Amino acid sequence: MRPNHLNSYFSSLSSLKGVGPKMAQAFAKLLRGDVLLEPRRIDLLLHMPVSVIDRNLRSSLAMTPDGVIVTVKVTIDKHLPPPRNNKRVPYRILAHDETEELTLTYFHAKGGYLERQMPVGEVRYVSGRLERFQGAPQITHPDYVVDEDDFATLPLIEPVYPLTAGVSGKLVHKTLLAAFEGLEPLPEWQDGVLLDREHWPSFLDALHTLHAPMGLDDLAFESPARQRLAYDECLASQLALSLVRSNVKKVAGLARRWDGRLKTALIAALPFTLTGSQQSAIADIEADLGVAERMLRLVQGDVGSGKTMVALIAAADVIESGSQACMMAPTDLLARQHFQSVKGLCETVGIRVAVLTGKDTAATKRTTLAALHNGDIDFLIGTHALFQQSVDFADLGLAIVDEQHRFGVHQRLALSSKGQATDLLVMTATPIPRTLVLTHYGDMDVSLLTEKPAGRKPIDTRTMSVDRLGELVARLDQALAQGAKCYWVCPLVEESEVLEVTAAQERFESLKPVFGHKVELIHGRMTSEEKRTAMDRFKDGDAQILVATTVIEVGVDVPEATIMVIEHAERFGLAQLHQLRGRVGRGDRASSCILLFQGPLGAIAKERLKMMRETEDGFEIAEADLRLRGEGDVLGTKQSGMPGFRLADAEAHKGLMEMARKEARLIVEKDPQLEGSRGKALRDLLYLFERESAIRLLKSG
Ligand code: ADP
Ligand code: MG
Repeated sequence: MRPNHLNSYFSSLSSLKGVGPKMAQAFAKLLRGDVLLEPRRIDLLLHMPVSVIDRNLRSSLAMTPDGVIVTVKVTIDKHLPPPRNNKRVPYRILAHDETEELTLTYFHAKGGYLERQMPVGEVRYVSGRLERFQGAPQITHPDYVVDEDDFATLPLIEPVYPLTAGVSGKLVHKTLLAAFEGLEPLPEWQDGVLLDREHWPSFLDALHTLHAPMGLDDLAFESPARQRLAYDECLASQLALSLVRSNVKKVAGLARRWDGRLKTALIAALPFTLTGSQQSAIADIEADLGVAERMLRLVQGDVGSGKTMVALIAAADVIESGSQACMMAPTDLLARQHFQSVKGLCETVGIRVAVLTGKDTAATKRTTLAALHNGDIDFLIGTHALFQQSVDFADLGLAIVDEQHRFGVHQRLALSSKGQATDLLVMTATPIPRTLVLTHYGDMDVSLLTEKPAGRKPIDTRTMSVDRLGELVARLDQALAQGAKCYWVCPLVEESEVLEVTAAQERFESLKPVFGHKVELIHGRMTSEEKRTAMDRFKDGDAQILVATTVIEVGVDVPEATIMVIEHAERFGLAQLHQLRGRVGRGDRASSCILLFQGPLGAIAKERLKMMRETEDGFEIAEADLRLRGEGDVLGTKQSGMPGFRLADAEAHKGLMEMARKEARLIVEKDPQLEGSRGKALRDLLYLFERESAIRLLKSG
């Protein structure tokens, strides 16, 4: 339960004066992305301004150029209401200072209100954007009109916030003033020495500074206030991950013993030799398995780097040591594909392997589950169906999670909690920069697969305007005659899967007259049975072109495919293009990738396509992606900024994240239950940044 002294931070904005139900909904949309959630004070307090309007500029009318926001001191001369029968004529008020006349213009105005606000003959401070019409200065709907007394309260430097319909900047400002009132001061959770050294203010002072900045400098990523809050956020996140980690590690792992018989047999059965990267990843894993601590390892490797083989050997080791292993893939199709690709090898060396997905019949499932429980299955491959309660392993020793970023931290933990001392191996194909590894996987050990399997030819990547589709089809015809296989990926339609499917169907129909039975179609709306049939026809049958929506994005493995056509490549992100391209170039034949685009291209799209032509290095591409689109999209999420973070910026606060990781480890070492006085304050921090699920892991939480 959240401690009471935090209540003021989590109370609803609708409990503040002046915030009605409609407004609360608009705030909910803005602050929490959903009108059904309660907008709380903390959400608003952590809603950061992105810029400032400087209303300091107080100048004479004559000196103010066109289009600038000013604050001017004027005397009101005359009200000119519109004629009664013509609502389209604006209400005008004439005023002057020593230098010039000013017209204030209001559309659909309430005359009575304006007359009370600006009585003729009185002096008023007016702030807004000044525009000149034939030289004459005019302000339409001024932002502020105040008298001498209220001028003192006018925010001369006005923070500018991201807004949404129904929430104006003025409303945010007003509501923030109310939100700051009556907040309970909190004990400091940061180390005093650190605060002194960095000249960082307290949490509340930092919030004050950012919402009432003295200038743009206060909002910069490197301002002390912003850094303090970003560090708070980083520490909350890293502390939560450290607590999870220590919790997992607390359950002692097994020091496994095996002599490598299965591994040797597997390697002997392979038609290739392992790459150096694969060998060293396997060595890392084997070292982890051999000590009495649970393994928490991330294997990061570009598409086609051969992660499956690493996973299989890890599984073989654990199986030989007497336990079971399982591997989880994000989709049914992928799970079955993994199964197909390892089945032969497993049978050769005597590993009993099975597959379990949500699509199995009840009878099949029953048989599989019984065999699993009895220990008659060594290696189970499946989808998230593996999480279900009814899945009961005899002795799960190793959980492997493939294509990780589609699963959350809690899911991963749920899987590893299925065994007594289950080791955990996570594999991701998205090359993620170090900062994001930290924020998403926490303090995991990392093995990198940097080498591509030998014999891989570089992929010839070209861009081509969609106007030249006819030319492409003719060339494709020649390539198919020589036995080539080709993926044809249809455009990404962000708003709608239905539209995406329609596009793929249409492309399929238009290629059919040319290529006949050589074209096959696969999309996300098909049943898994239909998908499997289509895949099989492409992999082993006579289909040579597979028209697809982005369902083939992850993991599909058809080494004979050598051509990748991506339609409307300009709509895809870099990471996605790279993933898709990785579907070809897996065999030893030369491959090509054709990026069809629809011009004219924006600057960023141009840069992305250029990047694709120039490099195949996944890490380089990931860095470029981060630069070009903001971190949110690297992981395929749509929000801007670092996913799950409101204040910290992946680029600007890299150093802080690293610092927070180290500090979090120290904190958990010294005070694993967060019981000391700083520990208690740190619990507040976890609540404020909504990382409190980690507190449930603590004894006295
Ligand atoms: P990913 O890392 O994308 O999961 P896979 O494990 O699916 O890659 O491997 C891609 C392809 O490369 C598969 O066909 C696999 O059999 C093959 N492969 C894996 N390791 C090697 C290697 N050392 N040499 C040659 N081919 C390999
Ligand atoms: Mg894979």
